[in-house]
Amino acid sequence: MSTERSAPKKLSNEQVLSIDRQHIWHPYSSFDNNNPIYAVESANGVRITLKTGESLIDGMSSWWSVLHGYNNQELNHALTEQLSKMAHVMFGGLTHEPAARLAKQLTDIAPAGLNKVFFSDSGSVAVEVALKMALQYWQGLGQTRRKFLTLKKGYHGDTIAAMSVCDPITGMHHMFNGVLMQQLFAEQPQCRINDEWDSQDISSFESLLSEHKNDIAGVILEPIVQGTGGMHFYHPEYLRQVRQLTERYGIPLIADEIATGMGRTGRMFACEHSGISPDIMCLGKTLSAGYITFAATLCSDAIAETICANESGVFMHGPTFMGNPLACAVASKSIELLQKNNWEQQVTNIERWLSEGLAACKTLSEVEDVRVLGSIGVVEMKRNVDLKKIQPALVARGVWLRPFGRLIYTMPPYISTQADIETLCREIFNVISNNHY
Ligand code: PMP
Repeated sequence: MSTERSAPKKLSNEQVLSIDRQHIWHPYSSFDNNNPIYAVESANGVRITLKTGESLIDGMSSWWSVLHGYNNQELNHALTEQLSKMAHVMFGGLTHEPAARLAKQLTDIAPAGLNKVFFSDSGSVAVEVALKMALQYWQGLGQTRRKFLTLKKGYHGDTIAAMSVCDPITGMHHMFNGVLMQQLFAEQPQCRINDEWDSQDISSFESLLSEHKNDIAGVILEPIVQGTGGMHFYHPEYLRQVRQLTERYGIPLIADEIATGMGRTGRMFACEHSGISPDIMCLGKTLSAGYITFAATLCSDAIAETICANESGVFMHGPTFMGNPLACAVASKSIELLQKNNWEQQVTNIERWLSEGLAACKTLSEVEDVRVLGSIGVVEMKRNVDLKKIQPALVARGVWLRPFGRLIYTMPPYISTQADIETLCREIFNVISNNHY
């Protein structure tokens, strides 16, 4: 048998685009539209190189996930070193060093009390796992509870149960009418992170919780930052009170830190803005630094013990790629890099550069609001942007951003320099002021 390595025949930019147009779904896409699509040749640091040769500064971290930049040598090394040992091995009845190391790191940095880790494949699955943990927790207590309480304008993923706790209007409920479980939705918190706290803000949540306290299996929310539902930064007191109320009624609190975890908001976990620990926490996206699809659901000892006390004595979930060694090795190295690179300083710097750089957008009449939290910068427009117009305009200006609805936003990799952030901010200003949106 020949051991010669043969690289696949190279496809041209046109060939890639043509095959793509014929055969491949993209996120929330149709085969019937002419939205622009770009073929990427490679990515390095904060730069994405297109097959056409153009180089773009990345302002999206590939949807929050790429913390340390692309083609990071240390992450590459962690991955290839693990690859040379084993790419994967089943997790039923077997375990390995990368999983053990990562579980220890996660339980060390997580909010207090989250001692048990369930590894899975993606954010949506981590949410499914969290919801099932809450349901099985009640079974362990000898009760059947079916409902979840969550917030309007929330987003938790695209699988069926995760969709049921997404905002019923901006989510996809209307398309799956009659299929999704009917959940309870409190009004979106109105008090913003830097506003004075208004004690009325919690009243919708509080009354729903008390009215349905005997049916609710769990509360799920995105701590502090509601991302996909509008990049809304709400008041830490809201979350503090949610924690107090859920404790009062003995209802598990699930924090979906899939987007916010690993420092993005200026704290390692957004829950820390409120000084709270949830009972269950979902991680994804940022966990493997944008290298491989991976997620984890952490829970407290009390949740785990109660689940294991139920009839079957087991938690009923077990994906094929659970605890994938490659993903664990990269995630583990990523946590090391956060600490080594002083992530707090990186995120503080980006917060300052974004605040300075986006300030000019406030002067534009088409702009509704400009806000920054940690390494997240948001320009909210008065009307929806037209992706067909703004995307090519941004690419022509050498930046990669992916606006949606009325939001032009950025969450760049932590390794971005001041010059990178200045460029991103300047080009956001330019596309708006030139009406290229
Ligand atoms: N929860 C939140 C808060 C998210 O932002 C996302 C990803 N957009 C998910 C869950 C779902 O994660 P995934 O896309 O990996 O399934």
